[in-house]
Amino acid sequence: MIYKANEQRYSSMSYNKCGNSGLWLPAVSLGLWHNFGGTDCYENGLEIVKYAFDHGITHFDLANNYGPPAGSAEENFGRMLKKEFAPYRDEIIITSKAGHLMWDGPYGDGGSRKYIMASIDQTLKRLQTDYVDIFYSHRYDPNTPLDETLQALCDIVRQGKALYIGLSKYPIDKLLYAFNFLKNAGTPCLVYQDKYNMLARNVEEHHLHAVETHGTGFVAFSPLAQGMLTDKYLHGIPKGSRAERPEGFLKAEQITDKVITTVTRLQEIAQKRGQSTGQLALAWVLHHTAVTSVIIGARDVEQLKENMETLNHLSFTDDEIKKIEEILQA
Ligand code: NDP
Repeated sequence: MIYKANEQRYSSMSYNKCGNSGLWLPAVSLGLWHNFGGTDCYENGLEIVKYAFDHGITHFDLANNYGPPAGSAEENFGRMLKKEFAPYRDEIIITSKAGHLMWDGPYGDGGSRKYIMASIDQTLKRLQTDYVDIFYSHRYDPNTPLDETLQALCDIVRQGKALYIGLSKYPIDKLLYAFNFLKNAGTPCLVYQDKYNMLARNVEEHHLHAVETHGTGFVAFSPLAQGMLTDKYLHGIPKGSRAERPEGFLKAEQITDKVITTVTRLQEIAQKRGQSTGQLALAWVLHHTAVTSVIIGARDVEQLKENMETLNHLSFTDDEIKKIEEILQA
């Protein structure tokens, strides 16, 4: 049966301006790092993407190496795009990235022009599309002159293979340099992407202030700390969870007693607010004025649905913020 998108899809999502650009991004975006690879169930992934799009998620975050195997998440999303979402391409923001190891040899990793140029072409083939909306340098590469990486990104935009440039995981001094370079080149950095959640707050030191000052958007990845900020690990490691699966990037040793104590205390606040612990964690990230969108992961539609319901209760009282801060500082 031909997919027809829900006509009410824009009625419940909130959209935030991405920095000073003209682009709006949904407050909740979907990432395809886990659960959409060649070893995962394609139909399950399709169901998640359909639910997302049907409820206002317009922004899908990919990278060349997402899978496993590397490249397969883009292949799967490309198949969905062609078979199901082709009539909606102009309603969808697709992002991809290059910067981590993708293929063997000296040209399949890092930030060289050689790697980035080859990678975008491979990405477009896998996605079966002429362009991505946002193309990212996935991480800062200390072994490549930054100008080389940035110039390659500008050229990708000039060639029409991407509409906007993004940067991810850059040290603050390199990020500030890049903001100026890209602005002077006439292709300003649309968005900066980094990890931000209640258990990982490094970006609060400099990056969040920098993006606000430079009019760049900020999208937070792993806002649930890969699932640690939900109730799922409070009584052990459940079967099938990311920490239990060998291909998962979350390792059991990351779920320390301190994490469990923190999440148990956060759960009490969440319950008083009538939210799940995960919803509290997502609302907390979105509460920061610099944050444009949280990129969540979901293993099934139930998780996605629960996460999207965060939007029903985003505001915090001063007292709640104070109590959360005490828990996080303990
Ligand atoms: P999250 O912190 O949202 O973690 C997602 C995982 O948490 C899910 O796969 C699931 O794991 C668990 N989860 C989600 N919702 C629920 C729920 N309601 N109840 C219980 N468990 C839940 O994000 P990710 O770490 O997946 O990152 C999101 C995206 O960010 C990625 O897909 C990618 O696009 C991007 N990213 C970018 C990076 C970069 O370098 N730029 C690095 C990392 C991510 P489980 O399988 O255990 O159920």
